[in-house]
Formats: sequence, C-alpha cells, structure tokens
Amino acid sequence: MATESKGNILLVEDEENLHEALKLNLEMEGYSVSSAFNGTEALKIVQAEYFDLVVLDIMLPELDGIGVTEGIRIQHIDVPILILSARNTSSDRVLGLKKGADDYLTKPFNLEELMLRVEKLIQKNKKMQDKESIGDDYAFGGNTIDFRAQEATTWNGQVVQLSKKEAMLLKLLVENRNEVVTREKILQVVWGYNVYPTTRTIDNFILNFRKYFEQDTRNPRHFHSVRGVGYKYNDA
Ligand code: CA
Repeated sequence: MATESKGNILLVEDEENLHEALKLNLEMEGYSVSSAFNGTEALKIVQAEYFDLVVLDIMLPELDGIGVTEGIRIQHIDVPILILSARNTSSDRVLGLKKGADDYLTKPFNLEELMLRVEKLIQKNKKMQDKESIGDDYAFGGNTIDFRAQEATTWNGQVVQLSKKEAMLLKLLVENRNEVVTREKILQVVWGYNVYPTTRTIDNFILNFRKYFEQDTRNPRHFHSVRGVGYKYNDA
C-alpha cells in the first residue's frame, strides 16, 4: 500500500552514485521518486505521468537538460523544473532558465539546500493550482449539476447519475472554465498518482459530457478537446 506522498518527483541524473544518494534522501523526506538516467527517457516519462517537480541535471547523455526543459515546455507541461549544473557553466544555467526552468543549484551542493528548494517549488506550484472552488450546485446552458449528489438535470429534462470520476472531472473543468486544463492536471486530480488512463479514457468522458449536456453534440459549445494539450470547458 502506498502511503500519502509529499509529492511526486522525477529525478534525472546519469551519475549513478549521486542519483542513488539524491533518491534516498528525497524518499526519506517523504517524496515519491521516479528515475531517469538520460534526457530522452526523462522526456518520455514526463509525458506519461504527473509530477510535482523535475530535478534535472544539465549534463546528460542523449539529450541534455536544456533540451529536456525545452521539450517539456514546448508541450505545455508546466511542471516546476529545478536544474543541477556543474560549476563554471553559468551560460548553461542562464539558458536553462530562459528555456523555462524555475530554479537551479550548482554542483556540488548542500543536501539541505536542495531539500529546501524542492519543498519551496512544490508548495509554490500547489498554491498556484488551487483555484477558487465552486459550490455544490452549478448551472450552464439549461443544465444543472448537483456535485454533492453526483446528479445532473440536463437541458431536455433528463436526470443523469454521474460517476464519481465524471463529477470530479466536470468540477475540475468548470473550476477552470475558459482555460485549457492539461491532461497531466486531469490525471493528477481525477485519477491520482498511480493510475494512468489513456487519452482515450479522458476522451470518452468528454464524449459523455457532450451527450448529456450539449444540445448539438457535433458542434459542442461547452466541452472542447485541445489536441495534444488537454480539454476546455466554456460556460457560454
Ligand atoms: Ca550528469
């Protein structure tokens, strides 16, 4: 049984001893740690799972940390990135920050300092993700939702019993109305850390929402897929 983790971290470092030491220390602080040992692997893992933070060495085989940072941001994945750089490579550091990293540490670094940065970045990210919560009842386009009862009355008078995941996804989309909610965010909030449905699963939820709530399912007004990025709910 997994215990509640303080956060999900992807550690990308090719030096095995350092990797092992960092992983152990992060786990002892209560974080869940996934490992990658080169840049290509890191990018692949980031696309498939939700992370609260990526700790990313710059000097890596195959694709370096700068390339990984760039790859992550190009795909609109807004996970915080802490880069680790060798001494005397300030140009790498600057480039990393320019490409979208959030913070950096220079090797060799103090473990305590790393832990403080890790905690700070994860908390800052969580705070930014806490949107204003909506109440138990919500109405749009002739539909009314009772989130507590997981029940909806649709524009044509149908009463629909929503599954727990349907209600959670609907609430998440409504709370972020008129904004794209990324697939990673949906995975984190609705499915939790350790289960990863395919894009198709989320698509099917959206298709159901259209069936329930759209007057013209072929020209949806409210529920939109943003290809390769995520999903969006519009209230008007
Ligand atoms: Ca390295």
